[in-house]
Amino acid sequence: ANFMPRPTRRRVLTVANQKGGVGKTTSTVNLAAGLALHGVKTLVIDLDPQGNASTALDVDHRSGTPSVYEMLIGEVSLADATQVSQQSPNLFCVPATIDLAGAEIELVSMASRESRLKEALTSEALDELGIDYVFIDCPPSLGLLTVNALSAAHEVLIPIQCEYYALEGLGQLLSNIELVQQHLNPALKVSTILLTMYDGRTKLADQVTQEVRNHFGDVVLKTIIPRSVKVSEAPGYGQTVLAYDPGSRGAMSYLDAAREVAERGVREQR
Ligand code: ADP
Ligand code: MG
Repeated sequence: ANFMPRPTRRRVLTVANQKGGVGKTTSTVNLAAGLALHGVKTLVIDLDPQGNASTALDVDHRSGTPSVYEMLIGEVSLADATQVSQQSPNLFCVPATIDLAGAEIELVSMASRESRLKEALTSEALDELGIDYVFIDCPPSLGLLTVNALSAAHEVLIPIQCEYYALEGLGQLLSNIELVQQHLNPALKVSTILLTMYDGRTKLADQVTQEVRNHFGDVVLKTIIPRSVKVSEAPGYGQTVLAYDPGSRGAMSYLDAAREVAERGVREQR
């Protein structure tokens, strides 16, 4: 039961939803930690100037640290910007510093502004580190940073909060994904939807779950992430919930979700 299959080919997943607070960062770091815990080498790219993923993985992200910003403007290579997380030798992170805050505007006037991240994610560097999974944590907007993430990925993972207005704005995300498919990255697909912050005490949570499943079918993971205080406390200690409280419901469900993601990667790519 502890086996976590490695993917047939390297998988690059962009975790996107232009709404803030839906669980993008939490899902990114905890899915990555779940895979890494089982020996699958996983790289998190923090593409949000807030640097929340960098914080949760406890990697240095003070201004001036080689980061995704320098990578995007071509000053440093992926290898130079990658740090190993304290939590696992299989867990890597390209941090985001506050310098990324200006990138959205700086990128506008740059050549191939939509595909700079893709160009920086060279397979040589990923091969050298032995990376099986790349997760890109997006900012809460549909600007150039998110477009870069969508252009660089094979798959999109959309976290959806089991709350009011869960589906609001999703149409906008999906049409942006379509635009990227048409113009930049034809192979991109929405492979995974993860329901987060489920509160079993509310009828609403079940209604949202049902609605999302009716609409998206098998793309939705069976595992649902419950709302849990441990999940929200963990980043304050520079930890994922898998490190902070491995036996907690939040940790177990992220581990289950990671296993589902991993199993799909093997099935679908054969
Ligand atoms: P996003 O990256 O989409 O903005 P976050 O992952 O940062 O969202 O989550 C928003 C807030 O909700 C954070 O404070 C986080 O700790 C909290 N949170 C996320 N998932 C859960 C959960 N399953 N249970 C409780 N709190 C959660
Ligand atoms: Mg975030």
